[in-house]
Amino acid sequence: ILSVKDVSKTYQSGTRKLTVLDQVNFDIQAGESISIVGPSGSGKTTLLGLCAGLDSASTGSVVLAGNAFEKLSEDQRAAVRSKNIGFIFQNFQLLPTLTALENVMVPLELKKRKDAKAKATELLTKVGLGDRITHYPSQLSGGEQQRVSIARAFANEPKILFADEPTGNLDTETGEMIEDLIFDMNKEQGTTLILVTHDPELAKRTNRIINIKGGKIQEGSHV
Ligand code: ATP
Repeated sequence: ILSVKDVSKTYQSGTRKLTVLDQVNFDIQAGESISIVGPSGSGKTTLLGLCAGLDSASTGSVVLAGNAFEKLSEDQRAAVRSKNIGFIFQNFQLLPTLTALENVMVPLELKKRKDAKAKATELLTKVGLGDRITHYPSQLSGGEQQRVSIARAFANEPKILFADEPTGNLDTETGEMIEDLIFDMNKEQGTTLILVTHDPELAKRTNRIINIKGGKIQEGSHV
């Protein structure tokens, strides 16, 4: 469902060129769960963004559900994302001026679903926030905000769920609840799961671990 071939990413800072990813290759089959681990600054978030089509590789090819991102315009990439992926960010990235319900309705309304409100209410109930739907993000705890962002990602009915340190800002108990929600989606709906984490216990729950260091996949990564 995802193929990363000879991908490199270089950032230009002033006159210096910084190679963040260097000839990275791997394939992910539908239904797998994968974690990307490695030291701080090793390029994990950059790699996740490239796989999700949020950013473009400098060279190489990223093919998601049959769509080669490097051949698409930004609008076309956005359409591929909307159709195929959900994204959970470490800092939640909810829209502060919208209630929990309205945040979850955004992807449903983009798809012109007439049952957007009912569906969003159902999803928020599923993540245990049925009694918080009219709250604004600022009125919710970190764990609650992360659950809203998960409900929003579920609303897309994604084939692939990307998660960048989904439990990084949460206490252990809340983090475990969030993990369970994500892995349930993988097991029950067959959603492919690709996550970045510093937590070895979380990484162990996935089928495979991609270990990245200095922009290269390390020997011994189970890819
Ligand atoms: P962490 O675990 O600390 O989140 P990471 O492995 O996710 O790190 P990235 O966020 O992918 O690492 O960043 C990799 C490197 O690329 C870092 O050195 C970072 O400073 C650099 N970098 C990231 N984004 C940009 C950018 N837009 N412009 C220039 N350099 C960047």
